Amino acid sequence: PLIMGIESSCDETGVGLVRGCELLSDEVASSVEAHARFGGVVPEVASRAHLEAMTPTVRRALDRAGVKLSDVDAIAVTAGPGLAGALLVGVSAAKAYALALDKPLYGVNHLVGHVAVDQLEHGPLPKPAVALLVSGGHTSLLLVRDLATDVQALGDTVDDAAGEAYDKVARLLDLPYPGGPPIDRAAREGDPEAIRFPRGKWGDGSYDFSFSGLKTAVARWVEDAERRGLPLSVSDIAAGFQESVVDVLTRKAVDACLDHGVRHLVISGGVAANSRLRALAEERCAAAGIELRVPRPRLCTDNGAMIAALGAEVVAAGLPPSSLNLATDTSLPVTSPLAV
Ligand code: ATP
Ligand code: MG
Ligand code: FE
Repeated sequence: PLIMGIESSCDETGVGLVRGCELLSDEVASSVEAHARFGGVVPEVASRAHLEAMTPTVRRALDRAGVKLSDVDAIAVTAGPGLAGALLVGVSAAKAYALALDKPLYGVNHLVGHVAVDQLEHGPLPKPAVALLVSGGHTSLLLVRDLATDVQALGDTVDDAAGEAYDKVARLLDLPYPGGPPIDRAAREGDPEAIRFPRGKWGDGSYDFSFSGLKTAVARWVEDAERRGLPLSVSDIAAGFQESVVDVLTRKAVDACLDHGVRHLVISGGVAANSRLRALAEERCAAAGIELRVPRPRLCTDNGAMIAALGAEVVAAGLPPSSLNLATDTSLPVTSPLAV
């Protein structure tokens, strides 16, 4: 079946078309530039941008895939988690298409979509797999027995998400928003050993994470250097900060695999685009005999194809469609791949 996926949980309007694990098109319109000067996503601005971008993005996705709207067999849409007004635009559009085409509607989980998207690049996800989900709003370790029906949470951040830490530290260093890509670039010029920042929850035996202490440590370092009139090496700070983040992420992800006897790790979400995270995960997985899967950077950040990929899984599992009364759920738990 041909699945159309619609994503609008944050600041990307995404529409993707897939058949099973085959990616036909993936069109994204981002309002990120409209938010940059505020240093974070402004919900009202995002909602309006989704409203303007939705229909043209659907058209582009259909054109790119070389299919007609009437060829679509099912509509999948992000039902949550995300910003209330932003989610509402995607869900309303999806309902309209489902109603007009008389095709089933599936409200799916954005976070599980971040994991499911890997199938479009590397084929069916081995069962079970451990997933490290690292995005702007979430940092979780998951045990995935089945993408559509069985996702278990092993651990979570107790404070900031990894992407949020990148964004906040970038702000401290006067780097642009979103902070992940500029810190990634700056860190390549720096020495990761020059400053050793704390590793939150390192070796505590849990699969939980904490990044707010790290952010505070970076803030103190910057303040202290300024007070003493010392030169600030943005690249060394970026490299030290990044090393702390990826060290803890990869260590806990590998531990989760080993402890659960799982041989496959998938890393996804916006922060999975990070070059150092990809390199260190590769190294540590190879050493531990774990097979690593990381989607290409473009598929790691928000897009419609990830929602279509999860929709395809849900359809293949034979789960019942959502009703046309489907509600958005701003805090839909990751353990619910399909919203009711
Ligand atoms: P969520 O999925 O939790 O609702 P989101 O959809 O806003 O949040 P994503 O789009 O998956 O998050 O990811 C955005 C985050 O990824 C931002 O915090 C951004 O800084 C970070 N990011 C993007 N590229 C990189 C990179 N190369 N290195 C580190 N972080 C990155
Ligand atoms: Mg975004
Ligand atoms: Fe996301």
